[in-house]
Amino acid sequence: MTEPSDTLHPAISSEGAAHPGQQDAGFLIRGKYVLTSSEPEMISDGAVRVVGDTIADIGSFADLSGRFPSCAVLGGPNDIVTPGFINTHGHFSEALVTGIAENYALGDWLRVLIDAVAPRLDRESAFIGTLLGGVQMLRTGITLTNDMFVCDPRTTPVTPGVVQGLEELGLKGIVSYGASDRRSGTSVEGVLAEHAALREAAASSTLCRFRVGIATVAAQAPSMFARSVDLASSYEDGVHIHLHESREEIEFIRESRHMSPIAYCAQHGLFDSPTLAAHCVWLADADIRLLASYGVGVAYNPVSNMILASGVCPVARLRGSGIKVGLGVDGPASNDRQDMLETIKTGVLLQRLDQLDPAALTARAALRMATIEGAAALNLDNAVGSLDPGKAADLVVFDGGSPALANVHDPFQAIVYCAGAREVKDVWVAGQRRVADGELPGVDVTALVRESRKLARCLAQRADLGALSLLAAPG
Ligand SMILES: [Zn+2]
Repeated sequence: MTEPSDTLHPAISSEGAAHPGQQDAGFLIRGKYVLTSSEPEMISDGAVRVVGDTIADIGSFADLSGRFPSCAVLGGPNDIVTPGFINTHGHFSEALVTGIAENYALGDWLRVLIDAVAPRLDRESAFIGTLLGGVQMLRTGITLTNDMFVCDPRTTPVTPGVVQGLEELGLKGIVSYGASDRRSGTSVEGVLAEHAALREAAASSTLCRFRVGIATVAAQAPSMFARSVDLASSYEDGVHIHLHESREEIEFIRESRHMSPIAYCAQHGLFDSPTLAAHCVWLADADIRLLASYGVGVAYNPVSNMILASGVCPVARLRGSGIKVGLGVDGPASNDRQDMLETIKTGVLLQRLDQLDPAALTARAALRMATIEGAAALNLDNAVGSLDPGKAADLVVFDGGSPALANVHDPFQAIVYCAGAREVKDVWVAGQRRVADGELPGVDVTALVRESRKLARCLAQRADLGALSLLAAPG
């Protein structure tokens, strides 16, 4: 198993600037129930003390308010507090093509939609797309997202627009470029330049870290794949890849490379770098043993898997083998909302339906997957994912005054089954309130939506999506 990294980027570790105007004692965030994703799992009438960008204390509200009487108190006596959610898989590259191409399985969906869009994305669409997707993520409690931007390389690198968007919103990101040399005209040099530009942008960001992205094993020629492995081992930041999402992908690699994609990654050294594998739907026992032995983390994307009719990730088998499984909303073209609460609930329901077992996945387990287990899948569990002193102050406050949370018999079930975006009152990222009473301070969402419409229309027309999109019509 891969050990958690101890050389963290400052933005995701506990260092950083203090909240403006904040006193040394910090402030308290109070909840009727504080769900920690740690030990103890729940504190009744609890509070979290935040100093700067870090959790300084956690305990009962009576104790903390007594010891720190000068601290301002946020949250409320009926609210529920959780760690910020970790989205382990997404694609801001799809933010302008939502609600489209519904009747395709993965392979055809890639050919019809993604292959048409990817060559036409530019830095501006990366920036606006990240804002559009990121606003939705923050509103549903996501404080860190693991993104893979899929586009063709251009003279001016595209993917730094993702970092720019995350900085604008104050949302943490693990950013990667979903590299492929499969589409005609894509050069290896262009792919490497895009990786380098994104890595440089992430290094200058206070919120982002870089990973080497690989769209799929099939998307890269063996020589390109070898370059990706080299890159991952030299950067030491880890890898983000789609693996075993569809049977078609596995059959293709078996025919051309005579083993499963997972076995190919293991044999060619990819898993020697920390790896996050998205999907892992179709798995032989040997594949699961390889994932476990290399400490590969898995992103379970229930809504996307259902939309593309891909299949059901064997979550119990994976977790039973010691593999860390997080939850992912996946891209806006295969979900199509960027809603973590929808994903958590759907993730539970899909496992129950698949197993015909109402205990197949519990609310408590799902909340752990959305927080500390997702962090562990990304090797960041020593910095984020639970409410522990010393970790980043990434928290969500759910509104106990909402009708959906009026009567809480079990706060874990209340969050998983009852809560939606409307119940998300405040979201704190590194001690900064990025969502306040359901709104994003400093973000002009109306102007953003207006701006995105022009880009989406232009993209639909240039990608020739007339058979799929009303936006592609002239005028
Ligand atoms: Zn994906």
